Amino acid sequence: MPTDSDAFARALAVLKEYFGYKTFRPAQEPVVRSVLSGRDTVAIMPTGAGKSICFQVPALLLPGVTLVISPLISLMKDQVDALRDAGVPATFINSTLSSGEWSNRMHAIAAGDVKLVYVAPERLDSDAFRGLWERVPVAMVAVDEAHCLSQWGHDFRPSYQNIAPFIASLPRRPLVSAFTATATPEVRDDIVRLLNLQEPAIHVTGFDRPNLYFEVRRGEDKRKFIKNYIKRHKDEAGIIYAATRKQVDTLYNVLTKAHIAVGRYHAGLSDAERAKAQDDFLYDNLQVIVATNAFGMGIDKSNVRYVLHANMPKNLESYYQEAGRAGRDGEPGECILLYAPGDVRTQRFLIDVSTEDEARKRIETAKLQRMVDYCHTPECLRSFILHYFGSQTEDATCDNCSNCNAGATDVDVTIDAQKVFSCVYRMRERYGITLVAQVLKGSSDQRVKDLHLDTLSTYGLFQNKTLQDIKLMIQRFVATDYLALDSGEYPILRLRPAAYDVLRGKATVIQHILPEKKEAAPASPNQTMFEHLRALRKSLAQKNRIAPFMIFSDKTLRDMAALLPRTEEEFLEVSGVGQKKLEKYGVAFLKCIAEHR
Ligand code: ADP
Repeated sequence: MPTDSDAFARALAVLKEYFGYKTFRPAQEPVVRSVLSGRDTVAIMPTGAGKSICFQVPALLLPGVTLVISPLISLMKDQVDALRDAGVPATFINSTLSSGEWSNRMHAIAAGDVKLVYVAPERLDSDAFRGLWERVPVAMVAVDEAHCLSQWGHDFRPSYQNIAPFIASLPRRPLVSAFTATATPEVRDDIVRLLNLQEPAIHVTGFDRPNLYFEVRRGEDKRKFIKNYIKRHKDEAGIIYAATRKQVDTLYNVLTKAHIAVGRYHAGLSDAERAKAQDDFLYDNLQVIVATNAFGMGIDKSNVRYVLHANMPKNLESYYQEAGRAGRDGEPGECILLYAPGDVRTQRFLIDVSTEDEARKRIETAKLQRMVDYCHTPECLRSFILHYFGSQTEDATCDNCSNCNAGATDVDVTIDAQKVFSCVYRMRERYGITLVAQVLKGSSDQRVKDLHLDTLSTYGLFQNKTLQDIKLMIQRFVATDYLALDSGEYPILRLRPAAYDVLRGKATVIQHILPEKKEAAPASPNQTMFEHLRALRKSLAQKNRIAPFMIFSDKTLRDMAALLPRTEEEFLEVSGVGQKKLEKYGVAFLKCIAEHR
């Protein structure tokens, strides 16, 4: 009778042989153990945590076929190509197949030649597809992007409702596992309920992505910053997100005119244009893509080194998901958000036109405000994000975000805070940021006069500051919860309880104030070798017609450049090199290393 530890030892062997890794990550191990023990399992893990391996490795050990339900038809081919390149017998079934291809694949599955079948949920209710499973045992149904089941998720797909009836129609109930990066309790409950999971083990991984650096820049000349950034990182892959199609087009034109090669992607382009842009990016023909949030769902490219947001997105869920496309391979990635007040107006407008439902609008507006707060908080950006997602982090600092790294100094701003709070109080909590800032500045704006606000004792208290600086200061007090902006059409500033304590002189206000930061490009000692290996990877990828990162990730190349293996045994020591990869690519890479060491 095999024990759980036998099964786990076999899982480790499979992990090394096919995927080239010696150990599961701490978040993966319990999930793999749970699946191997035959228990229905839900795994909620952030992007880049390595969800796929949690069902791919067990699939190779379970008796029968594992069906992977995935919503992303565009991605299936890449996922399966990458698996096959690693020697895993996998295939996919979706609407892009000709009838000849479809029946070839069905035969291969029936003959037992395949362990993993990726399938679009729309296929599940086809009779031919259902019929197959009367003859072939299904060991597991793994539901990828399982939040698509839930109306509460950000990407509801009605076709996911086919999954539960399909499972019920199988001659024997298979093990069911579900994977997502969306952590809210509503989504989690829906997954369990709508898939009819039986006493599932639910694993939720911490949402931190320590390899990602977070930065917010305000008041930056965005175009200039983006141009310079791309130039400084010219050999690295990056995504630049903008809020609207028009903004994507404008930025694309500006960059192209500056002779910077970039692709673009948004829903207004033809299917062919979008597919080309995506492929050019995946295959490293173009390093940079400018896109709306339509781009990226299912971009598994692991070597994206930076994600710049030319505009602030609508909420932190979107931001973390988009920014999280950097550094999936675990190597450092930079996530920089360029904030301007106009971004808030754009997002308010988009919320307004997106729904008639007032309750929904209020929720979206409140989420937008937290996004604005992120852009103004003087505290650790990572902690801000993790708290938003409900993690209780002990550390208030991370040493890897612009607020922690910039050498910020703690400054006592109690006096300024009292001036601002007192002004809000005297204006009877009836106006928004701009008017409060104008009063503090001592503006001669007609509205200020009409409302007799120039008679207040707080009028002109900040004569020597710019209006922009005063607004930023107010935003910081909102971000740190001394002030609140309500979520109406014209958001009004109100005092929060902490502000009263400051007004009464019972509390002080300390803030980290950041100096202007100029970044230096990090230099790596193995950079030259890495570049040689990367060039080789690109030429092998072209020859094999797969994306470069499918051959080896950047992390694997960096590991190779550090270890400089001479023999096949040493080559196998590199993280990400499995048996099949050694056979396929070992000679070429070992030769390259020998030539350039
Ligand atoms: P997710 O689907 O959770 O976003 P992926 O499955 O794409 O994440 O994995 C992200 C990256 O982590 C991939 O490059 C993958 O090869 C790598 N990876 C996964 N598991 C391990 C592991 N045990 N050790 C090292 N790298 C791993």
